[in-house]
Amino acid sequence: MATMESLIGLVNRIQRACTVLGDHGGEGSLWEALPSVAVVGGQSSGKSSVLESIVGRDFLPRGSGNVPMRITFDPSAGVLVSLVMVCDLFVWIRYRDPEAVGVATSQDGEWVGTHMADLNHLLPQNDDPFGGIRNVVNLTLIDLPGLTKVAVEGQPESIVRDIEDMVRSYVEKPNCIILAISPANQDIATSDAIKLAREVDPAGERTFGVVTKLDLMDKGTNALDVLEGRSYRLQHPWVGIVNRSQADINKNVDMIAARRKEQEYFANSPDYGHLAHKMGSEYLAKLLSKVAIHHLESAIRARIPSIVALINKTIDELEAELDRLGRPIGADGGAQLYTILEMCRAFDRIFKEHLDGGRPGGDRIYGVFDNQLPAALKKLPFDRHLSLHNVRKVISEADGYQPHLIAPEQGYRRLIDSSLGYFKGPAEASVDAVHFVLKELVRKSIGETEELKRFPTLQSDIAAAANEALERFRDDSRKTVLRLVEMESAYLTVDFFRKLSHEPDKGSNPGSTPNTPAPDRYGDHHLRKIGSNVSAYVGMVCDTLRNTIPKAVVHCQVREAKKSLLNYFYAQVGGREKKQLSAMLDEDPTLMEKRNAIAKRLELYKHARDEIDSVGWK
Ligand code: GDP
Ligand code: MG
Repeated sequence: MATMESLIGLVNRIQRACTVLGDHGGEGSLWEALPSVAVVGGQSSGKSSVLESIVGRDFLPRGSGNVPMRITFDPSAGVLVSLVMVCDLFVWIRYRDPEAVGVATSQDGEWVGTHMADLNHLLPQNDDPFGGIRNVVNLTLIDLPGLTKVAVEGQPESIVRDIEDMVRSYVEKPNCIILAISPANQDIATSDAIKLAREVDPAGERTFGVVTKLDLMDKGTNALDVLEGRSYRLQHPWVGIVNRSQADINKNVDMIAARRKEQEYFANSPDYGHLAHKMGSEYLAKLLSKVAIHHLESAIRARIPSIVALINKTIDELEAELDRLGRPIGADGGAQLYTILEMCRAFDRIFKEHLDGGRPGGDRIYGVFDNQLPAALKKLPFDRHLSLHNVRKVISEADGYQPHLIAPEQGYRRLIDSSLGYFKGPAEASVDAVHFVLKELVRKSIGETEELKRFPTLQSDIAAAANEALERFRDDSRKTVLRLVEMESAYLTVDFFRKLSHEPDKGSNPGSTPNTPAPDRYGDHHLRKIGSNVSAYVGMVCDTLRNTIPKAVVHCQVREAKKSLLNYFYAQVGGREKKQLSAMLDEDPTLMEKRNAIAKRLELYKHARDEIDSVGWK
């Protein structure tokens, strides 16, 4: 059996843990597992007196006054909730006495004894029901109404039954220690207390037979048959008691004097002298204490696993909830900067997943290169631009008053130049199309960054920074693709035309020789030939650009977005003051409150777990 000290420590830890768990009593709670002591017996059998004397103090509502205690009355529940006092056995007692209610009521729900000041340091504080009290066992003493045989004048017929049912409801609980009170001046065979106790505790494991009023027995009789277990056997020994008589109470005989008197009675009794060391209130108190501890120990042992499981489950739930809400941020600038960068990285990770294919959307960029760009290139109006009519117009304008002699060099250049200018449109359109895909991915990624949700300001800051960066990449990309087109104009591929001049002129007369005179400079056949040569050249450039524009766009926009979308932002944030940083981490206040509340509860639960762990009794 555990020592009283270790048990008390354990009980205190469990009680604190239960308070944290919101367990303030009720069905199935640990409080219910703590032992209670109930006195059962007929009216005036001495029940209240026994309770008082095992506690060792006067506390029942008889107006004794000079006792350090506090009674709390709960008017709504109509019961005495607690009675706090110092006694030999238990310091803090939850005491329920239906007969005491009247007294508490008359005191407006609160009655404070005279020596409260001495006790204050021991009493529960508001937020910690065990504040200040250590090494205290919380024990409920229940002073039950007396069992009756008949309803007296003014009482309902059902009273006998009602009282018995109420008493039974208390004593049938397995953690209730029953003090079955039988007055010595009545036949034990007629004891209602023993009858009820046997009903709810047939093995007699938690029943104590208590014989009161030994001093009131008829001269020449004694209760030895009962006390020595011959009349009725119980698991625990019978204990005889001599309480204060009504006359003692009237004379304000105090508990110390009463106990001394009781001890003298047994010591000097010719009948009970040999039993003196096993009789009396003090002995009963010790016996009870032993049994209460034993019950407590096994009750707690049985319940610790489920309590620990409940605590662990709740801790897991709270941790998950906190993860969902986001952990609290440290108050210093470093922690804030760290948090901001963490958020940026989380966003950046998601954005990259969109580009690289972990999430949808990146494929739309390929769509631009594979569909939009070729379609736009195909739609360019080269047919119209290189029509016979236009070729003639451009060539003759380029020639001026002097028609070209061999090939219209100037005319070719003008036709090619003006044709290549058309490529600027699709090139810029590709840049814009990719820009809008990237912007959409930024928008999506912002929405998908769960961690960011709690910081609306930071969320829009990051979105703005990302979009600004995309604008910069777009400008650069636009310049690059236009340059690609300009480069095509800047220097033409000479080989292409050299090859052309070696090709036989299929359109000319089979018999013609270099010596034959040149065909008509502005004849249809010749101009059509020029138009088709230019068209072939433009087609070749088109094939090149269809490949190089995507390379430029990816290089300037996509690759940059992946590599350095927030670089500029990082540099800006890095240089900010703590005040600016905390403004960026501005949170929804209701969310903040919620998180703080959860964090606080989590702390309490962890503390409760440590409390139980530290007992090492699992
Ligand atoms: P309850 O109704 O069962 O709670 O009984 P109480 O404790 O109120 O006692 C009823 C009366 O019996 C009171 O006047 C007590 O003083 C008196 N009484 C109780 N026990 C004893 C006892 O052992 N000896 C004497 N002489 N009187 C007692
Ligand atoms: Mg009573």
